Amino acid sequence: MNKGTWPQISYFHEGTRQSRVIKSQLELVEKKGWRELYRAKDGTYWRLDAVDKNQTRYMLRVDDLDTWWEFDATELEKNLLRESRGESADRLCRWKGCSNPALLKMEICAEHAFQYGLRE
Ligand SMILES: [Zn+2]
Repeated sequence: MNKGTWPQISYFHEGTRQSRVIKSQLELVEKKGWRELYRAKDGTYWRLDAVDKNQTRYMLRVDDLDTWWEFDATELEKNLLRESRGESADRLCRWKGCSNPALLKMEICAEHAFQYGLRE
């Protein structure tokens, strides 16, 4: 399947210029629960979380149409948090026994921040 022109996973902020550009290139294919499946003009498929004021929404490239709805993107979401916040080069997570680098301007790593509910 075509990899498409957007990153495999990204945050989606309704109302921004970028989100309008992306939406203009997507066609809704299916809606299931709180998730929507879109087809892009280049033939790629994307999963988008439905609008929820209190939840971070993700746009995720769908590689398998059979499991688009149930695919667990937790690890990708953690990686995105790590990439968007950045990691310290010299400070470790303060969580007992954890040896991951702390996120920039934070005391804990992406893994533990994610456990606390931090998403972006
Ligand atoms: Zn940690």
